[in-house]
Amino acid sequence: SDESDWEIADSIEGDESGAHLPMPTLAVVGRPNVGKSTLVNRILGRREAVVEDVPGVTRDRISYEAQWAGRKFLVQDTGGWEPDAKGLQQAVARQAELAMRTADAILLVVDATVGATSTDEAVAKTLRRSKTPVILVANKVDGERLEAEAAVLWSLGLGEPRLVSAAHGRGTGDLLDDVLDVLPETPREDLGPGTGGPRRVALVGKPNVGKSSLLNKLAGDERSVVHDVAGTTVDPVDSLVELGGKTWRFVDTAGLRRKVGNAAGAEYYASLRTKAAIEAAEVAVMLIDASVPITEQDLRVISMVVDAGRALVLAFNKWDLVDEDRREQLEREIDRETVQIRWAERVNISAHTGRAVQKLVPVMETALESWDKRIPTGRLNNWLKEVVASTPPPMRGGRLPRVLFATQATTRPPTFVLFTTGFLEAGYRRFLERRLREEFGFDGSPVRISVRVRE
Ligand code: GDP
Ligand code: GDP
Repeated sequence: SDESDWEIADSIEGDESGAHLPMPTLAVVGRPNVGKSTLVNRILGRREAVVEDVPGVTRDRISYEAQWAGRKFLVQDTGGWEPDAKGLQQAVARQAELAMRTADAILLVVDATVGATSTDEAVAKTLRRSKTPVILVANKVDGERLEAEAAVLWSLGLGEPRLVSAAHGRGTGDLLDDVLDVLPETPREDLGPGTGGPRRVALVGKPNVGKSSLLNKLAGDERSVVHDVAGTTVDPVDSLVELGGKTWRFVDTAGLRRKVGNAAGAEYYASLRTKAAIEAAEVAVMLIDASVPITEQDLRVISMVVDAGRALVLAFNKWDLVDEDRREQLEREIDRETVQIRWAERVNISAHTGRAVQKLVPVMETALESWDKRIPTGRLNNWLKEVVASTPPPMRGGRLPRVLFATQATTRPPTFVLFTTGFLEAGYRRFLERRLREEFGFDGSPVRISVRVRE
């Protein structure tokens, strides 16, 4: 009945009731084996509450909902990368940099039984310039004997090491009290609606596609590069650029300046860097070299953007090199290679001559509007009822799955939850996404639809 459908809607996060307030995030970083996972489990009280509907959650970063002293927050376990021994230091530093951009507070965990290793020192150095509060955790202090040894960790320059034993729970309550002292009530920047701040753009694409050239073109002369905006702190690795009467934050532009060489592993780090830039951004401008065929590497970067759930703009660069013959061939290539992202808008530009670069701004704006868009539950369900009535889902095992109700759980990107009485085939879900896009228009943004089957 209608009534029970509404009960379901009430019980999930993120409908217009405002039940889902954005929660601040605590990131846990450190070398492998220092006890990060053990600490996360301790903080969670071993509840297995994986929060998958939280925006920005990817395979590498799993967020869990935690609660302490009546306050809710997300704990982010930044594991998942498995670098070789040589790459360890950089991978941990990257992890810390990512946390500095996305989290509201950071725990750096070190192993007190080992002391400060060179990797710990490197990551501490990175974190010392963090504007996000950092708490140093000396883990594995299982007994008093180790307390004196842990004192040497003051040398990391991150203040007093908090002595804990994640395995036994020693000191973790005090640690959480300290966390709540530094953790803001609401998440940083614009995760909450209406808090403004320059929108964050990542320029991505394979090496030599023209990212630096485009940034230079967009920034024009030095005067349009903004160094100070009231109420904004500029991460030294970002550039603020005034475009179309607005300030935009181009993330990780230091990474653009610092070119990767051909050293072993360079490609792996370039890809980590791309990934971090995408994570830090709200919209990615994906540059593709229009003068040569689309490559696997191009498609991989596009997938990274879509998987991260960021808004996407496709910029076909070096258009000045494209002649008439190539154009037709290129159109066919684009049609063939970008079927899954028909929703992404395209601009043909030349960072070299400046052709059409000003067109990027309105397209980025549209993409972000789509990314932020929320469809009221009533409108969504009126539409759904009509679509399902005219094209019902295919039968499964002799039964017709009923589509009961839908709600938009989150924005950024728009994520919908459908409640059904049975499994919906992938083909039907794609059909619904197509119709949803036709009706509500989500140009430039990925859209996620998850199906919850009600027994
Ligand atoms: P991660 O790789 O940083 O996530 O580390 P884990 O949480 O997987 O822990 C690595 C190892 O350290 C495991 O064998 C844990 O049981 C152990 N460990 C974690 N915390 C403590 C602790 O407080 N005391 C001791 N003695 N061992 C711990
Ligand atoms: P990045 O590695 O992606 O930052 O690429 P760069 O901006 O360094 O550009 C790589 C090379 O492509 C440079 O020699 C640029 O001058 C050239 N380039 C970049 N954009 C264009 C363009 O629109 N047209 C042409 N003809 N060359 C370009």
